[in-house]
Amino acid sequence: MNAPSTLTRDLRADFPGLVTREGAPWHYLDTAATAQKPRQVIEAMARAMGEDYATVHRGVYSRSADMTLAYEAARRRIAQFVGGGDNEIVFTRGATEAINLVANSWGRANLKPGDRILLSQLEHHSNIVPWQMLAEAVGAQIDVVPLTSDHRIDLDAAESMLTERHRLVAFAHVSNVLGSVLDARRAAELAHKVGAKLLLDGCQAVPHMPVNVAVLDCDFYVFSAHKLYGPTGIGALWARADILEAMPPWEGGGSMIDRVTFEKTTYDAPPQRFEAGTPAITEAIAFAAAADYVAEVGFNAMHEAETSLVTRLRRELVAMNDVTVFGPEDSAGIVSFAIDGIHPHDLGTILDESNVAIRAGHHCAQPLMDYLGVPATARASFGLYSTEADVDALLDGITRTRRIFGKAS
Ligand code: PMP
Repeated sequence: MNAPSTLTRDLRADFPGLVTREGAPWHYLDTAATAQKPRQVIEAMARAMGEDYATVHRGVYSRSADMTLAYEAARRRIAQFVGGGDNEIVFTRGATEAINLVANSWGRANLKPGDRILLSQLEHHSNIVPWQMLAEAVGAQIDVVPLTSDHRIDLDAAESMLTERHRLVAFAHVSNVLGSVLDARRAAELAHKVGAKLLLDGCQAVPHMPVNVAVLDCDFYVFSAHKLYGPTGIGALWARADILEAMPPWEGGGSMIDRVTFEKTTYDAPPQRFEAGTPAITEAIAFAAAADYVAEVGFNAMHEAETSLVTRLRRELVAMNDVTVFGPEDSAGIVSFAIDGIHPHDLGTILDESNVAIRAGHHCAQPLMDYLGVPATARASFGLYSTEADVDALLDGITRTRRIFGKAS
C-alpha cells in the first residue's frame, strides 16, 4: 500500500486536468488551493451519480439501501484515513464548515465571558474568523502566538501564553502559505496541560503526510476533500467520540433527529446529529476514492518526490539575490516567495502565458502577510503529480518575467 516505488508510474496520466485545452502540459503549481482530480475519483463520482444513484438513509428500495451502505463505508474509509473511529467523522461542506461547526456547537456550549482562545499568526482566515465570531458572541478573548524566525508556530511562546482561562487552541497542522509543519503532539501537550482542547486545521497536512489523530492526541481535526484529490463540497470534522456526544446540534432539519413533535424534538446520535438535510452523497463516495488513491500512491514515495522539488526550488530561488523565500526549509510541498520590484500578480499573469499556474495574493492569511511585511506572496505548491519539468517551467518563467521588467537575471 505504501510502496515507495509507486511514483515510478506516470501519475500525471491519471489526471485529465493536467493538460491545456490545446493538449500541452499544464504546469499546475496551485495544488495547495485545490488539487487536480485523478480519473479514479472522477469515475467513482460519475458512477455514484449515474448507475448507483439514489438517496441515503430513507429509501426502502434496494438501490437506496446500497447507497446508504456506500455512504457509510465512505465515512469508515475517511475515519480510517486519519486513524479515527467510525462514528467520529462528521461530513461537512469542507474545513471551513467544520471549524464553524465546532465554534457554533462546542464553542457556544463551553465558552464563557473571560475565557480565551489561542490562535497563531499564520492561520488561514477560516481558522480565525469563526473564532472571532464566537468570541464576540460569548465575551471571550483571542490571543495570537507569534512565529519563530524560520516561520513556525512558536510553541515556546505558546507555552508561556497559555493560562487556565484558555479553553481552546486552534492551529494549522501545516501552513497553507509557508508549508511549516506543526509539532502537533507538543501543541496537544501544552493545550491539555491547562485543560484546553486542541483543534488542528489539517487541510494542508492530509495531502502530504500520514495523519493519525490518536498519535497527534488532538481533540478536533478538520480537512477538505478537494485538497486531497477529491471533490469540492465535502470535507470532514473528526472529533473524539465523547466530545461529539456532548455537543449540541448546530443546524436543524431532516436526518439529524430522533423524534419531532411541535412540543419537543430529540436528536439523533453523532455523527448524524451534525448532518442535517440530504448529505453530499456522491461527494462522500468520491472522497473515499481519493483516500484510496493517495494510499495507493503512498506517503513515503510522495514525500520523497515533493521534498526533492521543494529543496530544488528553494535552492534556486535563494540563489537569486532579489528574491525572499518564506517558510522553513522542510516545508510540506509549499514554497512562498517575493521578487523585489515585481508584484506577485504580475509574475502570476506572465507565468500563465507559459502554462505555469501559481497562486499570487494573500492566500486568505492577511494577518500573516502583515507579519511578513508584504501585501502578497507568490506561492508554488506541489502535489503527487508534480515534476522537475514544472520547476523548470517556473524558473524559466521567472527569468522571462525579469526580462520583461528590465531586471538582470
Ligand atoms: N485551512 C487551510 C490551511 C487552508 O489551506 C484552507 C483552504 N485554502 C482552508 C482552511 C479552508 O478550506 P476550505 O476552503 O476547503 O473550507
